[in-house]
Amino acid sequence: MMDISYILNELGEDREQYFNAVAPPIMQTSNFAFKKIADLRHAFDDEMNGYLYSRGLNPTVDILRKKLAALDGAEDALVFNNGAAAIFAGVLTNIKSGDHIISVRNPYSWAQKMFDVILPRFGVTTTYVDGKEVSSFEKELQPNTTFIYLESPNSWSFELQPVQEVAALAKKKNIVTLMDNSYCTPLFQKPIEWGIDLAMQTATKYIGGHSDTLGGVLSGSHSMIKKIFDSEYLNIGSGIQPFNAWLLIRGLRTLPARLERISKSTLQVIDFLKNHPKVDTIIFPFDESFPQYALAKKQMVSGGGLFSFTLKNGTMESITRFCESLKRILMAVSWGGYESLLIPKCAGITAEDFDRNNIDHQYIRMYVGLEEPEYLIEDLNQALNGI
Ligand SMILES: *Cc1c(COP(=O)(O)O)cnc(C)c1O
Repeated sequence: MMDISYILNELGEDREQYFNAVAPPIMQTSNFAFKKIADLRHAFDDEMNGYLYSRGLNPTVDILRKKLAALDGAEDALVFNNGAAAIFAGVLTNIKSGDHIISVRNPYSWAQKMFDVILPRFGVTTTYVDGKEVSSFEKELQPNTTFIYLESPNSWSFELQPVQEVAALAKKKNIVTLMDNSYCTPLFQKPIEWGIDLAMQTATKYIGGHSDTLGGVLSGSHSMIKKIFDSEYLNIGSGIQPFNAWLLIRGLRTLPARLERISKSTLQVIDFLKNHPKVDTIIFPFDESFPQYALAKKQMVSGGGLFSFTLKNGTMESITRFCESLKRILMAVSWGGYESLLIPKCAGITAEDFDRNNIDHQYIRMYVGLEEPEYLIEDLNQALNGI
């Protein structure tokens, strides 16, 4: 295993090539010139041979690719314009008409949309499983099952899958596996080391770290990454642009420091919420009350800054009043930046469909950012006391 400081500060960089600048350059170019036809032919033969056109390889993006692959402990990686594009390319490259996919239930919303709306148009079916036991996957295997899709933990209820066991089952059956690792990042969990074929993460959240760019990552073996590069990556053209790649390289430099601080502050905020009379349940993999706490401790280093909670009197009215009373914590999707954010599940449910007895409908998801935890707790306290 490479030293993480070496990965973040040196790997993929060659400062002597660009005036010993400490920060890497942004190669904002669409194309690259050749002197020899033989060299041009070599590039046409295989775009992974070198720089030809920035829809394929680009030097700034390559610095980022090398760092992200190393963090995942993978041979190679591709960086996309956003996480949804990475998911789409990772799945599409590995399936064909007539195939069957097994996915953990409640995956990231746009993964689910792909399974439910887009893939059926091409004769690909998906079965959702609970995923907490490897047997739930085993039971749904069909002769045409070619792909297993995991997200551990997921990003609302944080349910985990026993990743090593699922990966072993898939290997035995020649099934390709992809795991969305956005919640943990490779700092807190390494799916490739457990035998997962493709580790996916959005770079929009923790990697970028400043709510100012989107990005998405797929890591895996050379052959798997090349297969994706040669087809969906080049054809859909969803690779990241040099400037956004540069922002992500910058974000990576502070990733360990940010995650360390966020992990600490989150425990402080959760401790406050647990002891507040208006709060009912906390859903956080690293809380002792979490049903899969033991598995979380086995698979993950930390829970980071994302958790859900519910109110004692979880009506649409009380949730609305609480969320709208916050003065410092912003109501917004996504996470991973400086600013703490919060989003209630009921924002996606109409008043008629809202079911008070369904705990899912009552979830309020919170991301603890880099502010002082006391500053956040004050805000939560005044909003909770107002309901
Ligand atoms: C945000 C997110 C994605 C998608 O990433 P984008 O960069 O927004 O496209 C995928 N999976 C999870 C768990 C996410 O939270």
